[in-house]
Amino acid sequence: MSFESLGLAPALLRALAEQGYAEPTPIQAGAIPPVLEGRDVLAAAQTGTGKTAAFALPLLQRMSQGRETQTRRPRALVLTPTRELAAQVHENLRDYGKHLRVSSTTIFGGVGMGPQVQVLRRGVDVVIATPGRLIDHMQQRSVDLSGIEVLVLDEADRMLDMGFLPAIRRILGALPKQRQTLLFSATFAPPIKALALDFMRDPREVSVTPPNTVAPLVSHRVHPVDASRKRDLLLHLLSQDSRRQSLVFSRTKHGADKLVKFLEVSGMRAAAIHGNKSQNARTRALSDFKSGRVTVLVATDIAARGIDIDQLPIVINHDLPMVAEDYVHRIGRTGRAGAEGLAVSLVSHDESGLLRDIRKLLDQDIAITDVAGYEPSAPLRLDAGAPRPKQGQRQSSAPRPARGGNGHGGQPAHGRTGGNRGGNGAAAAANGNNAGRSRGRRRGGRGQGAGQAH
Ligand code: AMP
Repeated sequence: MSFESLGLAPALLRALAEQGYAEPTPIQAGAIPPVLEGRDVLAAAQTGTGKTAAFALPLLQRMSQGRETQTRRPRALVLTPTRELAAQVHENLRDYGKHLRVSSTTIFGGVGMGPQVQVLRRGVDVVIATPGRLIDHMQQRSVDLSGIEVLVLDEADRMLDMGFLPAIRRILGALPKQRQTLLFSATFAPPIKALALDFMRDPREVSVTPPNTVAPLVSHRVHPVDASRKRDLLLHLLSQDSRRQSLVFSRTKHGADKLVKFLEVSGMRAAAIHGNKSQNARTRALSDFKSGRVTVLVATDIAARGIDIDQLPIVINHDLPMVAEDYVHRIGRTGRAGAEGLAVSLVSHDESGLLRDIRKLLDQDIAITDVAGYEPSAPLRLDAGAPRPKQGQRQSSAPRPARGGNGHGGQPAHGRTGGNRGGNGAAAAANGNNAGRSRGRRRGGRGQGAGQAH
């Protein structure tokens, strides 16, 4: 299969050759032809599958043909859950469209409205926006969406998770009914199907990876460790190859900051990327990481969406995510494009239940191996009563009082109490009052203001 055979224009083929892309990925081969035909497409594809080019290439082709010279209204709208993803899509559009005269711009929060208003006023073909800021522009009438011919919902599942459904509905209401709609999502969960039914016309479904599976070239490794020793173990693992670029996930923003401080004090070059950082700080952290100035990037789940780093050899979960699907998203950063990847998770006893969820979702065993010198005092539990941290729990990297106390304060989510064995229960007891939320997020969200929570 070649890009030529998909019907792409010579200017795009040239840009792809310059990018070094030899052939289309499966999602590109599946989605590009129906998109070029003008059909609505519902595509299941995770980050790392080449999904951006799957919509960006045919979108650029359409924009380059039949340009309306009289109008300055945008003709295509790409909605993304995060600023990082918007910036990434923009960069890709520019790369692929470098031999075409198609203009694009990003519209997202955290930066001034003024420059965005000016660009919109001057006129632009493609707008890549996060929902919140686009609504701001709609309210102040600085954007006219009546000329939109193509709408792309990128990472739609994530947008729903972040509570953007009302914003998306509002935006959809402002678009012409006669348009092409492309929806990309990591999964076809029921809310995604419902959205598609509501807003798409006879969509062609393209699904290349079965939902909730991960790249086969990724090996998964779990190291059981006491929560209080996680960061030491992390440092130990990172020190084994200090030149290697590693992406480390932390469950909380505060935890990410603390971890970066700890790593820096220990001589590592680290940076954090999360929603409490300014846009500039995030962009700088990402470019420092890409350039190799920083070798460890510590990210929270939401901030990491849309980070595009080629062939990352290793992703380390300092904490497991509260929602198993996030594990799949996290390790989508490694093992890309045919390269082998390693996903390492440091798992404390109180996270046993989360590991159980992840194993179930992946439907595969994950090797659990102790690291010499960091053996945990309480083994992981993988039975039905395995404990889970409560949402909002103090970060496990925080220094803890010595273990070995009563250790039985933790309330396992499934009501069983045994099995803490003097482990980390005290930490679980000290924190969080949101028991039971862990599974609720997928279904309706992080609630109010969640769009800003990254
Ligand atoms: P995405 O899934 O859009 O985040 O893309 C993942 C990565 O794959 C990006 O770094 C792209 O530049 C790269 N990529 C996309 N399409 C291809 C292709 N056909 N061949 C090689 N790399 C690609």
